[in-house]
Amino acid sequence: MKGRKVIITGVPGVGKTTVITTAMEKLAAEGITYQAINFGSFMFEVAQKENIVKDRDEMRKLDRDTQKRLQQLASQAIANISGNVIVDTHASVKTPKGYLAGLPEWVLRGLMPDMIVLVETDNDQILMRRLSDETRVRDKEGSRSIDGHQQFNRSIAASYAMLTGCTVKIITNADHLLDVAVSEMVEALR
Ligand code: AMP
Ligand code: MG
Repeated sequence: MKGRKVIITGVPGVGKTTVITTAMEKLAAEGITYQAINFGSFMFEVAQKENIVKDRDEMRKLDRDTQKRLQQLASQAIANISGNVIVDTHASVKTPKGYLAGLPEWVLRGLMPDMIVLVETDNDQILMRRLSDETRVRDKEGSRSIDGHQQFNRSIAASYAMLTGCTVKIITNADHLLDVAVSEMVEALR
């Protein structure tokens, strides 16, 4: 049977990775397995070997051509993985030169997702989560700018649906309601 390819996106700090990890545990208990792949980790592995960044949060500040080259390499590696796959990534990456499509046409054609999930929540919740996350170098931006990014992600997800015929699922990961987000994710992945 052909595996399912699901792409999970959301602005930095929305809690994508947490929702994915918890949903996968619940699915495994039902005998449904997915391989979770972090797109940024594939890019970071190459970037680290080339000594061009110290941490993964520096990648979005690299020049455009370098980011696109790393993106291309990661997408080729990921496209070769078979079975049920969850790709933890970004609908768009906020760079100093503007939004960079996380899934430009040449990336999407390789991945051919069945579904794109947008994990969202209120802008001020994201702002607070970023401020309290000491494990990452999160961008310091105001609620308005976070709102702009979330809106841009919805728009670009629509174009991804046009290119692939995938569905777009929006899941809210609100404060104190992680379990609601996880149930919706489980439902979407089942
Ligand atoms: P994350 O750990 O998901 O926040 O990803 C770390 C970094 O990887 C991001 O800040 C981006 O620089 C990069 N990245 C992840 N996914 C993509 C993508 N689809 N296209 C371009 N860059 C990406
Ligand atoms: Mg993450």
